[in-house]
Amino acid sequence: MEIKVPYKVKRNVLLNPGPSTTTDTVKFAQIVPDICPREAEFGGLMKSLREDLVKIVHGDTEKYTSVLFCGSGTVNIDVCLNSLLPEGKRILVVNNGAYSTRAVEICEYYGLPHIDLQFPVDERPDLAKVEQVLKENPDIALVHTTHNETGTGILNPIREIGALAHKYGAVFTVDTTSTYAMRPIDIERDNIDFCMASAQKGLMAFTGLSFIVGNRGIIEKSAGYPKRSYYCNLFLQYDFFERTGEMHFTPPVQTIYATIQAIKEYWAEGEEAKWARHTRVFNAIHEGLDALGFKDVIKRGEQAGLVVSAIYPDDPNWSFEKVHDYCYERGFTIYPGKISTTNTFRLCALGAIDEQDIRDFFAVFREALDKYGVSVPVRYDS
Ligand SMILES: *Cc1c(COP(=O)(O)O)cnc(C)c1O
Repeated sequence: MEIKVPYKVKRNVLLNPGPSTTTDTVKFAQIVPDICPREAEFGGLMKSLREDLVKIVHGDTEKYTSVLFCGSGTVNIDVCLNSLLPEGKRILVVNNGAYSTRAVEICEYYGLPHIDLQFPVDERPDLAKVEQVLKENPDIALVHTTHNETGTGILNPIREIGALAHKYGAVFTVDTTSTYAMRPIDIERDNIDFCMASAQKGLMAFTGLSFIVGNRGIIEKSAGYPKRSYYCNLFLQYDFFERTGEMHFTPPVQTIYATIQAIKEYWAEGEEAKWARHTRVFNAIHEGLDALGFKDVIKRGEQAGLVVSAIYPDDPNWSFEKVHDYCYERGFTIYPGKISTTNTFRLCALGAIDEQDIRDFFAVFREALDKYGVSVPVRYDS
């Protein structure tokens, strides 16, 4: 179906880590005749949507499936951890940032036995330590980590962590919310059993639809694991889909229409071209920050290519809030950091934007620094 755009919607450039800037065709894809999602017509849409979500990570649709949930991205972490742990076993969270800490908190809330293996937020996990913990704790049945720690922008070595998990007989779940449909992923080669994302990030659609892509055999095996949540159980949702083609409870109908359009646009742009565009945007962000003298937190070679965490300058005139408001009024959204020990702000390369948007942003950002008397190049005391 061709989407008509009856008028141009005011375009905002979102440099926050999701939701992202969307195209008008994706926005207007939500305007559809009312439909009950229990109709066969809607079920047909969901079937191809579920297959596309597997194909985006190059999964074989016999071996891998996708399971949809109504909610923001955190619902996926909740579902994976509470559903995939057998009785009497433990979870290992390889934790070097805010999103893996969220996974640890989920374990705590459900009372799931777990090991919180912490590493500094500005360093990649030490694989030798991960292996040692796996070796010493044969009751670990599930290893979880985050691909791109969106709090800092560090890229974690998931293929290597996945290989270790498998060597010690554990299932590997990865929070790929801030890489899926941006940085290319190959589910099988990357040793992933389950990855996850939501429609409002890499796919450039809207909040309300989240999905887990993973191994059918493991989901089927989890049928006999303890049921710890009624709404957020992976097997129950999967099983209902397989039997009826529908979500167990009411799906986010309009968001699904928008996501289907967004996937159409994803295939049209192409995996490689899209990643090249995100990379252009990311490089333009670095160029702009470098020109103003900003420092970032994560070593360049370890960044995932999507999120830059810049350190607040040591200038009494610097105010994130004021600069934010100045940019926001002009259509650009910047975002606070998520590191407890350092004051940072983030600029992200998600969404339907390109390098010219970043140049336009930096012109406005520079005006804001001048207006509030922040010296350029920015100052750092140490
Ligand atoms: C955005 C994001 C999530 C989901 O956060 P919500 O606030 O629930 O949308 C989870 N993990 C990562 C790595 C993310 O970037």
